[in-house]
Amino acid sequence: MVLLGSTGSIGVNTLIIAKKFNIEVEVLVAGRNIALLNEQIKLHNPKVVVIADQNEIEFVQHHNVYAGEEAILEAIKQSKSEIVVNALVGFLGLKPTLMATECGKKVALANKESLVAGGNFVDTSKITPIDSEHFGLWYLLNDAKPVKKMIITASGGAFRDWDLAKLKDATLADTQKHPNWSMGQKITIDSATMVNKMFELLEARWLFGEGEYDAIIETKSLIHALIDFKDGSTTAHFAHASMQLPIAYALNQTMQEEILKPINLLEVGSLEFRAITKERYPIWEIKEDILKNPHKGVIINAANEISIEQFIDNKIGFLDISKNILKAYEHFDLKASNVDDIFVIDQEVREFLKG
Ligand code: NDP
Repeated sequence: MVLLGSTGSIGVNTLIIAKKFNIEVEVLVAGRNIALLNEQIKLHNPKVVVIADQNEIEFVQHHNVYAGEEAILEAIKQSKSEIVVNALVGFLGLKPTLMATECGKKVALANKESLVAGGNFVDTSKITPIDSEHFGLWYLLNDAKPVKKMIITASGGAFRDWDLAKLKDATLADTQKHPNWSMGQKITIDSATMVNKMFELLEARWLFGEGEYDAIIETKSLIHALIDFKDGSTTAHFAHASMQLPIAYALNQTMQEEILKPINLLEVGSLEFRAITKERYPIWEIKEDILKNPHKGVIINAANEISIEQFIDNKIGFLDISKNILKAYEHFDLKASNVDDIFVIDQEVREFLKG
């Protein structure tokens, strides 16, 4: 396989699964964590390596190393592998997803920004999502009965129990205190603002088509998805919170062995569900509208990325991330008519918020 983002949270888990199933790693793509990348090279012996910065090539212990976005695309194009695992973070992941599908490869997609921003132009027949919620929906949909509504769950993020008045002063360090697990920095911020769940609803819309979608908080993150069927039954997908299960299925469609231990409900004892409210998560105000207009995903994605950069640089406060997204969402009503437009709109939104 080709693995993009090997040194990240998803990338590291993907390599654990690759070892378990003896999957050969042809290409490793990473950013700046060269120390970890060098360990991965020793263990997985890839043919090609790509990193972010040309100046760091000399520190990579491999004879075939390239750098930059174009090099990622070229490595995908030249590869013989049938699977590309895209675990890059952010809009940067869209072009590699498009390149991989154009080359006829199967994409195991963790990079949700690809679908949020460019869903209209991504061939989803070649995509298997690496996300617990979509994996959960896919698992439940195998029941093949008429569906009424698909529901995904949220942990509620770092601030689910915070006093609302304190949210405006939340720091970057505060956003990273996820209640249930550890992930990369950006998705953990997205989890605190609930943007992550909005992205997942959009992702679900592109993957599973038009229909009714919603999200609720389940505080223990043991249920990842639920389906209300027309007949009045509701099924739920329970599993311990680990990305190794969706990754294992994305790499290996049939599964004969144990990936995770089953949940012991007697140990769990009880579950708690909460509504996602606009008061705590202002972004939720546009949930219904964006699901009706999923092409506007590119706007919220760009606004989110630029605002996160500004928040990390201490230029804006935590609540300004959501404010900026809502401002951009209201200001722009552009619809991409081809994939190039996606990149133009992305740039316009970023310029608008740089102001
Ligand atoms: P991380 O920040 O942990 O990892 C991102 C990866 O991308 C790292 O390997 C990083 O390299 C690499 N990268 C960043 N910039 C570049 C660049 N310019 N060129 C090459 N490589 C680059 O993110 P996560 O693993 O948490 O998330 C990855 C994606 O998966 C996101 O879209 C996220 O929303 C999604 N996702 C994550 C989940 C999770 O549990 N973490 C769950 C479901 C989806 P380096 O670290 O070396 O700089």
